[in-house]
Amino acid sequence: MQIMYNAGCDAEIYKTQGEKHNFPDMSKELCPQCGADYLRKHGYYERHLITVGFEGRIKIRRYRCRDCKKTVSLLPSFCHPKRTYGTEIIIKSLNEFYNKILTVFAVIMNILKTTGVDCSRQLLLHYRRRIEQNLNVLIMTLTDIQSLKNPIIHEEMGTKEKVRQLLARIHYPEDDSLKIYKRTGTTYLTLQPQ
Ligand SMILES: [Zn+2]
Repeated sequence: MQIMYNAGCDAEIYKTQGEKHNFPDMSKELCPQCGADYLRKHGYYERHLITVGFEGRIKIRRYRCRDCKKTVSLLPSFCHPKRTYGTEIIIKSLNEFYNKILTVFAVIMNILKTTGVDCSRQLLLHYRRRIEQNLNVLIMTLTDIQSLKNPIIHEEMGTKEKVRQLLARIHYPEDDSLKIYKRTGTTYLTLQPQ
């Protein structure tokens, strides 16, 4: 399983720090999966990351439980679970699409021009489908986290408008991703239980 945390730095610094990065110490934590033993350090694995201002391989700290033999990885919140593209670029791409009246091609060119990241038409389509699938859960979770008295969304709003309202509430994509993850165990594009 993965545990998301705030690395306190961007991807470039994180990569430079390598194994010297100040990873959270999980060795006094019981295994979150079986609770029968403490977690032990279990090396690193490498993953590829593409985000605003960064493309490269980064090391992910891993722990392991000697009882159930399962591993726990520490994922910095600038990464999105199971995605090569990082949290910030995912939210930026969605903002470009939902908040601008442009063709998909123009949106993609805009993302490339402003971030240097090449987001394909298929990728953008996939992000759109997934955020729309997760819309209700994300709205409920954000409303809860931000202690909003008024619901963000009114039933009569169309899907695009609902996504726009949701995106308008995501002020800090990485911090908000982390908060949503802590609350639900998933984040923006993870298929959420409906
Ligand atoms: Zn275990």
